[in-house]
Amino acid sequence: MINGNGKLVLYSGSSGVGKGTILEKLRELDGNVWVSVSNTTRAPRVGEVDGQHYHFISREAFEKLIAEDGYLEYAEYCGNYYGTPLQALNEKLAEGRTVFLEIEVEGALQVMKKCPGVISIFIVPPSFEELEKRLRSRGTEDGETIEKRLEKAKEEIGCRGRYTYNVINDDLDTAVQEVYDIIHGNI
Ligand code: 5GP
Repeated sequence: MINGNGKLVLYSGSSGVGKGTILEKLRELDGNVWVSVSNTTRAPRVGEVDGQHYHFISREAFEKLIAEDGYLEYAEYCGNYYGTPLQALNEKLAEGRTVFLEIEVEGALQVMKKCPGVISIFIVPPSFEELEKRLRSRGTEDGETIEKRLEKAKEEIGCRGRYTYNVINDDLDTAVQEVYDIIHGNI
């Protein structure tokens, strides 16, 4: 169960849309924002740090925590598990922090059901062509993975209407300001 006085924010958008960059800037503007660190079974990318970007764990360890009801939500995305551990989330909400869950659509829909009225934000690319360009130029995934992620992106963009807010990431500073205004109730 979820408890505490902090705000919970669902934050989604397809791979390569620039969600992480927006969040980095938002955290500079608002020190109360805390981004939940998910568990995943995917391998770390170059530069990713265990415990900071994700907790990188085995499938066995992931499934053990499922059995213990240790997740707010979890989903399988492109062949790997991703999930939000409940314990740290509740600790931060109890401290009154604004907690961002940067998660894919299936997991976000699970949370919307469990927590009606939760703030939800979907980051939209200026166009699908632009998204494809960004994902390819990032250079962190091989060709097959990029194709899978583009397919998934198409599917996910189709779900953007399920979120309370859509923010277009065309100009970075404008997008950051919009997200800031949403969580501060200015929009
Ligand atoms: P990536 O492999 O690019 O880091 O993440 C793939 C997708 O999984 C992204 O859309 C990311 O937001 C999502 N994701 C990350 N953590 C979680 C989580 O805890 N739960 C769910 N459902 N999705 C997550």
